Formats: sequence, C-alpha cells, structure tokens
Amino acid sequence: MITVNGRRYALAHQPIVVVCVDGCEPDYIAQAVAHGHVPWLKEVLASGTTLVADCVIPSFTNPNNLSIVTGVPPSVHGICGNYLFDVASGTEVMMNDPKWLRAPTILAELANAGQFVAVITAKDKLRKLLGHRMKGICFSAEKADEATDDENGIADVVERVGMPVPSVYSAELSEFVFAAGVELMSHERRPDVMYLSTTDYVQHKHAPGTDGADAFYRMMDGYLGKLDALGCTIVLTADHGMNAKTKMDSAPDVVYLQDLLDEWLGSAVARVILPITDPYVVHHGALGSFATVYLPERFDHAALAARIRALRGIESVRTRAEAAAFFELPADRIGDLVVVAERSTVIGTSAARHDLSGLDAPLRSHGGVSEQRVPLIVNRKLRDIDPMRRWRNFDAFDLALNHVS
Ligand code: ZN
Ligand code: ZN
Repeated sequence: MITVNGRRYALAHQPIVVVCVDGCEPDYIAQAVAHGHVPWLKEVLASGTTLVADCVIPSFTNPNNLSIVTGVPPSVHGICGNYLFDVASGTEVMMNDPKWLRAPTILAELANAGQFVAVITAKDKLRKLLGHRMKGICFSAEKADEATDDENGIADVVERVGMPVPSVYSAELSEFVFAAGVELMSHERRPDVMYLSTTDYVQHKHAPGTDGADAFYRMMDGYLGKLDALGCTIVLTADHGMNAKTKMDSAPDVVYLQDLLDEWLGSAVARVILPITDPYVVHHGALGSFATVYLPERFDHAALAARIRALRGIESVRTRAEAAAFFELPADRIGDLVVVAERSTVIGTSAARHDLSGLDAPLRSHGGVSEQRVPLIVNRKLRDIDPMRRWRNFDAFDLALNHVS
C-alpha cells in the first residue's frame, strides 16, 4: 500500500487504465449506446460498475485532471484553473507550470513504489503537470514526434503508433492517445498503470447523439475494447461535462461581466479573470460558465455579490471564503468573488476582448455547476461500493486500485 495526499492505494496487480474523456457529459454515452455505436461500453454498463460522479468546480480541464491524478480537490493540489491572476506579480499567468502544483500525484508515487507508469495526454499543456516528478513514460499526442527517452521515457512514438501527429484541433488528437495506449499495452513489458487524457475538441462542437459525437464514441469504444481484451481494468471518467451556451438565435449567450463592473465601479477598478483562458481558445472563444473577480478592499463585497447575483443568467455568486469552502478551492488563488453562470450562459470579460470569429458552430462550453456530472464507469464489478455516496471523478484511482476483486 502507498499513501498519497492522505488516501491509501494498493499497488496494481493487473494493468489498470484510467481514462479521462475530456468534456464527456454522460448523455454522449447514452446517445451513442442508443444509436448502437458502442458495443463494448453497452456491455460494460450492464456487467461492470456504472456510477455518476461530480467533477470539481470550476469544471475545467486542468483542475479536474489534477484532481483525478492526486485524488484530492484543488484546495489541496492548488490547480484551480488554466489561468490565474498572480497577486504577487500583478499579472495574469498560465497555471501549466508544475511550480503551481502543491501535492504529489498518485502516478509519481506508484512509480516510486516500483510500478511501471505511463501517461498520454492529447494536448501538451497538461503533460508537465501530470508527469511532475514521475519516473516512466509521459508524452502528448500533440508533440508525439518530439518525444525522447530522456524527456518522455519513450522515443519513436509516431512510428510505434503508426499514425501521423494530428492537428491540435481534431478528433484524431484524442484517437492518437487511445492508439498509443493500446500500443504500449500490447508489449510484454507493459505499464502497470496508465493514464489517458483526451481533448474536448469534438464535444465543444457536437452535441450528444449527433453524427460527429457518435463517431467519436464509436472510435473510443473500439480502442477501449482492445485494452479490455488485453486484460486491463479500465476506469472511464471525465474532467467535466458540456452544454450548449447559446441564445435562441444561436449566438453565444454571454454576460460580459467586466463591462458591467466597469460601468458600475469605474473602468478597470474590478478585474474579471476567466480561468478557462488558455492558448487553445478557437473552439470556445475563452467563454465558460465560471469567473472570479478581484475587487479593491474599499467596496462592500457582499453587496456587489448580491448585485451580480441578480443579473439574468447568473446562478451563484460567492465570496472568496464561501467559494473556497463550498467548491474546495485554494483561497489564495481565487478572487474576492466567484461567479457561476447558469446552464446556457457563459461569462465574458469585455465584449471587445473576445474573438468569436473562430466559432464555426453554436457555442458549447463548460465551467459551471451545470457541467459537474460526469460518468465513472469501470469494466469490473467492484466490491465495497456504496452507490448512494457522492462519488467524485477523483475517486477513479481508488476504484481501480482498491475495489477490484
Ligand atoms: Zn476539459
Ligand atoms: Zn473545453
């Protein structure tokens, strides 16, 4: 047994694969099952273990991937967005650097305990965080052609997988992750533990049950079936769900919070931070359903919270202390207010700062409580499982390592 961040994990005695399907709202699976595209998943839903779990809020990629691999919420591991306002330097910075990570990962500790661990991500932005201080294999599909033994624990990835490096904006970027996972598991010296993390490019564009979505899940089902046939215990979960965020005319339904606060308090007095912001914004225009607001001390934060809460499209506004407690966030890395939008609404800064020209489909996005429900599916009947407790996506490694007979 090893203990990581206060939780105990048995070492893997058969290969386990934890899959984080980016943006996998449970309805994607239901629709793909109904349309007959996912025979492997259909069988697992009947014979394995099917739970619905809550992801962490903000329902963004990095906080949730880090929760899954550390087994704890952002209040412990520190990664609470893709992006944060660094109060110390007065600048807005990316949180991709492992220096922001405050907790060891289960992956690194399993590797320290002698297990062979492999991590494959779609986008390179997650690679350094997930592979922090981890001995083993860790590479991204995005930069698979640059992987070396020294840096990534593996070389010649493209030749081994037999697929060209896909575009960062493509379904194939995720397919490469699955294909590489099957390739690693197909050799005699195979990983004890593997973590696969895809991209939500498809989910941002295609609603559950549409052809584009069904094709993605059919592709995934094929690879998961191969991993199953290779004897792997597979846990499938997601970093967050996904919802349409549009008005009836199909334009994005945006509350431009910085514009409103500028009007109420004066220009640039408040600072709205959107932690969804990252270098890959084409498919969502940096619009999500979560924002945090930095305010000067002289304002009555509670009164301002009430005023924002009264806006249409806003679901909740919490002060820093309330949000840190309720959403299990690091209080020193969020603003004075945390604002969550409703299911069909997103929060922007200023209208002028969002380039929506790259949106070639009606906006679908995430970030709010409305995208909190995610699948937690295991291809095994598990023991000692309470279906009535509140499961989290960051229980994935606990299920795989501690509850498989
Ligand atoms: Zn994501
Ligand atoms: Zn996304």
